Amino acid sequence: MINIDASVCKACGICGNVCPRHIPYTVKEGDKKTTFISQERINLCMECGHCEAICPNNAITLEAFRNEQFSTVEPLGIDETQFLELVKQRRSIRRYKDKPVPRESINRIVQAARYSPTGTGRRTTGVIILDDPKKLKALSKIVYSDYETWLCCKKLENRKMILKYL
Ligand code: SF4
Ligand code: SF4
Repeated sequence: MINIDASVCKACGICGNVCPRHIPYTVKEGDKKTTFISQERINLCMECGHCEAICPNNAITLEAFRNEQFSTVEPLGIDETQFLELVKQRRSIRRYKDKPVPRESINRIVQAARYSPTGTGRRTTGVIILDDPKKLKALSKIVYSDYETWLCCKKLENRKMILKYL
């Protein structure tokens, strides 16, 4: 379900430009422009949220995003070179402090991951937070034993088994 609030929509047409399925569209009659939602194409909506996120007037809303708040984001104060440096300096951390990560921080990280793009907006990946040290240890044992099986196997059949997962 997509709605355009005609009282604030300026019919700029940006939502239609970003929609991969061409669902919002703008028509001009004389001097007046109006943006509509195509009822013929609305079933093609994949709820990517581009239209709602980009609208400068908060005029378009999706039922699927009813709990989200979008606000205008100022351009980042970094240039291309600085961005490249940032990417170059990214490192994976594999040594941890022996103290729990605050739940608030975990929630923020999961929230950030939740907004990662997914193919056709399907969002099929779920997240399970496991912070009980005993359970984590038990799980890591299972994972390592699986890795060992995979990495040590030399037989062709086992290789075929691995290829199934690649
Ligand atoms: S982007 Fe917003 S203001 Fe512009 S046409 Fe779409 S709904 Fe209207
Ligand atoms: S949510 Fe995505 S697919 Fe649906 S109308 Fe908006 S931009 Fe188009």
